[in-house]
Amino acid sequence: MAERALDRIDVRPAYTVEDAAAYEARFAGVPAPEMLRTLLTGELHGGIAAVSSFGTESAVLLHMVASADPATPVVFTDTLKMFPETLSYRDTLVERLGLLDVRVIQPDPALLAARDPDGIRHSYDPDGCCDLRKVEPLARGLAPFEAWISGRKGFQAGTRRALPRFEVENGRLKLNPLADWNKAALDGYFTAHDLPRHPLEAQGYLSIGCAPCTSKVKPGEDPRAGRWRGFDKVECGIHRPMEAAPPP
Ligand code: SF4
Repeated sequence: MAERALDRIDVRPAYTVEDAAAYEARFAGVPAPEMLRTLLTGELHGGIAAVSSFGTESAVLLHMVASADPATPVVFTDTLKMFPETLSYRDTLVERLGLLDVRVIQPDPALLAARDPDGIRHSYDPDGCCDLRKVEPLARGLAPFEAWISGRKGFQAGTRRALPRFEVENGRLKLNPLADWNKAALDGYFTAHDLPRHPLEAQGYLSIGCAPCTSKVKPGEDPRAGRWRGFDKVECGIHRPMEAAPPP
């Protein structure tokens, strides 16, 4: 009797840290717009999404993505705690940049009913609230993709200063095209491309997340100092906190 062929499921991760290091070396010194154009129209086409909060600096990355390929999927997690200004800014940018595939992901209603029925979990357990409203929905949104693009910048806070341009998390390639961009470069890009600003930025909100957990930034503070003020929390769980770079 002929031997039965065995089905094999390939459980290897799509990407390894060696892959990330190879990308880092290959694109060393290549400007972010060119790097994105190469990858979004080349080997990562169809398997990559951009993740955006439509916050104060999101327009820069989204403009680069739209310029490379406006059909690139953009995943937006609507925690149901967003500023209304963020939602209207999202609509403005989608229209202005011609983004063709924006996917809005919201928290699971059953999980919300079980773990945050009154909508106040952020006030006593922000980590649990972020898990429920950001981490789980984003995991669903990113499930179809092997790679994603983040808008993180190294200058935003001390915990992000050692940010590489390519990372691997859970076998998925993560691109941080703006890792080495500073505030002046971002402002220059806004001006050069006449990009609209988030309506709350002029009021002193320099890093914008959910309404209950975002406050204005005072002069001299890190741009992200207004996030989760009063809590020992620097990231929402989507990005793991990184060690600060050692002093020179
Ligand atoms: S930022 Fe605040 S409101 Fe938003 S998910 Fe996290 S804890 Fe909840």
